Order: sequence, then C-alpha cells, then structure tokens
Amino acid sequence: MNDSADSAGVHTRFRPLDAIIAKRSGEEHGSDVIDALVRGYVAGDVPDYQMAAWLMAVCWRGMTQRETADLTTSMARSGDMLELSQLTDTVDKHSTGGVGDKTTLVLAPLLAALGGTVAKMSGRGLGHTGGTVDKLESIPGFTSDLDEQRFLRQAREVGVVVTGQSKDLAPADGLIYALRDATGTVESLPLIASSIMSKKLAGGAHSIVLDVKVGSGAFMRTPDEARELALAMARIGRHAGRNVTAILSNMSQPLGFAVGNAIEVREAIECLRGGGPADLRELCVVLAGQVLRSAGLLEDGADDVVERALDDGRAYQRFEEWIGAQGGDVTALDHLPLAPGQELIRAERSGVVSGLEARAIGRAAGLLGGGRSRKGEDLDHGVGVMLHAKVGDPVSRGDPVATLYHRGATGLEDAVAGVAGAVRIAEAAAAEPLVIETGVA
Ligand code: URA
Repeated sequence: MNDSADSAGVHTRFRPLDAIIAKRSGEEHGSDVIDALVRGYVAGDVPDYQMAAWLMAVCWRGMTQRETADLTTSMARSGDMLELSQLTDTVDKHSTGGVGDKTTLVLAPLLAALGGTVAKMSGRGLGHTGGTVDKLESIPGFTSDLDEQRFLRQAREVGVVVTGQSKDLAPADGLIYALRDATGTVESLPLIASSIMSKKLAGGAHSIVLDVKVGSGAFMRTPDEARELALAMARIGRHAGRNVTAILSNMSQPLGFAVGNAIEVREAIECLRGGGPADLRELCVVLAGQVLRSAGLLEDGADDVVERALDDGRAYQRFEEWIGAQGGDVTALDHLPLAPGQELIRAERSGVVSGLEARAIGRAAGLLGGGRSRKGEDLDHGVGVMLHAKVGDPVSRGDPVATLYHRGATGLEDAVAGVAGAVRIAEAAAAEPLVIETGVA
C-alpha cells in the first residue's frame, strides 16, 4: 500500500481506516492522503467497504476547495491524460445531464466552423436515452472507435472528432462512481464536481464551458445549488490552468421536442441547418458564444456571428465533414429511421401546457428501449418521444401533445402512462426562461 506523509512530513504507511476516521471527524486531508486513497482503490488495495465509508464521510462532512482539487487531480491522473497540446484552440463543453439534450451534436461542428478545435471523448451513457456516442451511432456506418493517431489527425484536418470514452480516461472516477451509485453517495457537491472535472481535465481541452442544469430533470434542483457546483468546477479548472466558465440552464422540461437517439439526431440536424426548436438553438448559441469568447475566438457581444454560422450552412457543412470522416453515411442523414409504431398522447383538457416533467418523459424513452440500465446493454436507436407542445403553449382538448415511436415491446403501456402523466395543463402558464445565468466563473 502507498505511503503518505503526516503533518511533520514523516512518511508513514497509509491506512484507509485513518482517513475514514479523520474525515468522519471533519478533518482536512493532506494531498498525499487523498492520492494514496485513490491510488489504493484503483490498485485494489483499498476495499470497497472502506472506500464507501470514506465517501459517506465526505457526503456528511464535505471537502475543502483544496481537497476537492486534489481529489480531481488524483482521479484525472489515474489513467491517460489526453495530450492535445499539438492542437490549437481546443474547446469543449460539458453538460451535467438532461433529457433531450443533444447540444453536443450541434455545438461540436458549430465551434469547429468558428475556429475552435473539438477533440472530445464522450460517454455512452447509462440512463433514459443514450449518450452522445449512442446518438451518433444512429447514423449508419458511424464509428466512435478511433485510435489516437486517427483521433488527432481528424481533429487537425476537420476540427471536430468525437469518440467513446476510453476506459483509461480517469479510470478512478469510473470505479468510484460505480461505488457511489451503489452506496447512496452520488449527491455530494465535491464528489460530483471532482468526478466531472477529472474527466474534463484528462480530456485535455483548454477552454471548457459547463452547462449546469437546474430543475426537476436535473441533479441540482435550485439555481443556488447549481451555481455552487458551477463555481466549484470552475475553480478546479482554474487550479489546473484551464479556462473554465459555466452557465446555468433550466431542465424542468426536455430540451427541444425530441427525446431518444435517432430522433434527437434529426432535431440536431434541423438546428444545424438554421431551424429546429428555439430553446435548442438558444442554448447552443449561448454556450458557443461563451466558450469561444473565453478562448479568445469571439469578440464580446458577437453572438450574431454564431447565429450566422447556423443560418448560412457552415455549421451543417462541418457536421457532414465530421460524420463522413468517422465513416458515417451522410446520404442517410435526411431519413434516419424511427421505430414504426406510433402512439399519440392527446391533451385531456383545453388550456396552456404548464409542465412537461422532464424526468418522466426521459424515463418513458428508456422504457421503450432508448436507454440502458446496465453497462454494455444494447439500445434501440429508433424509439423515442416527440413532443408537440412546450410549456407555455396553448392546447385544445384532444390536440396531440406527444407521439411515442415504439416497437410494441414490453414497457409501452408504462411509457404511455408516464408521458400522459408528465403533461400538465392549466388555465394559464408562462414559459420559463431557459438560460438562468451566464458567465459563471
Ligand atoms: N456526472 C458525473 O460524471 N459525475 C457525477 O458525480 C455526477 C454526474
């Protein structure tokens, strides 16, 4: 087992039990203790039960900024650190997760069209729908399996490349996250911040924008909680010499109208061609503007430059180049197939849509087969939910509010009930602002 140094600098044998007791008592760990714990856990020397006890002590006692930065660094260094220094103007975005969030599909080529280099590893995702890579695999021929040479060459030549997350990227986080999931220790701000940022730091980009979601469909239920997480992550980024800023955005209803895999790619394509849902476009423009400004690639207040790249075809052209470079059939982009079964959900009364419970709609897409509940499970790219109204839209009794695309498999009945129950209609309701705060750093 690793050594650690005590306050007098004397090297002693590291004992996880001491770290658990120290944290339980509210003490601050030295960097060496955190590093010994992380290394010991990855090496199998620290058993699950001790790591779980330490994680629970962190949930209860918290960690200082310095401890959080140290935990992030130890997890980031537990595997490969992507070396992007040979690339210029590397930019990246991370979202804390939301239903219908297909922003990466739009943002990656949009940023590349405006001078950024996006060389990104993206998760496959456990949950209601797939992650970005799963969504991209709705496109026939698309491969996310690139070796390092091809990854870097494509980043240089096309300006955008997205692969699946390598097992060697922050492996400590993968192991610790799985344990947190099984021990009720996910909901801790320093653990969430260090988990996300360890992957971002290992991912190598210099300028990063974080989209921290707030609302019923998100980890963070209030703007104050979300701001605290955003600030913690930005601090960690600065500590590591990166340019990290954040925005807070509303995730009480799904982003856009489409929730699933192929159905989300179709919607992202509409946005890349200058159309698509207003909320998706707004979020992409705000995120792109913020990260490009922080990278010195855009002047203050020049969001119209970003909008123009969507409207004049440059972003879509870059999307096609990117998809083609990764083996995707660009002639298939106009008709990505959806599952043949359609089940319509209709408004039960007239009024205004006052709520579209994001979590319930995401769960319905998962029940149809659009997500996975276990690592490595296959998912169905063609199933999903298409909303026909958003919060604030007037509806008459009997109007279609959502269509479920399905293959008649088990889960359909629950999915239908889930979406029907997720739609709330009132006498009056106002649309909530999508972007709650920008420039958080
Ligand atoms: N996403 C992560 O990557 N880690 C967390 O801890 C929570 C969300």
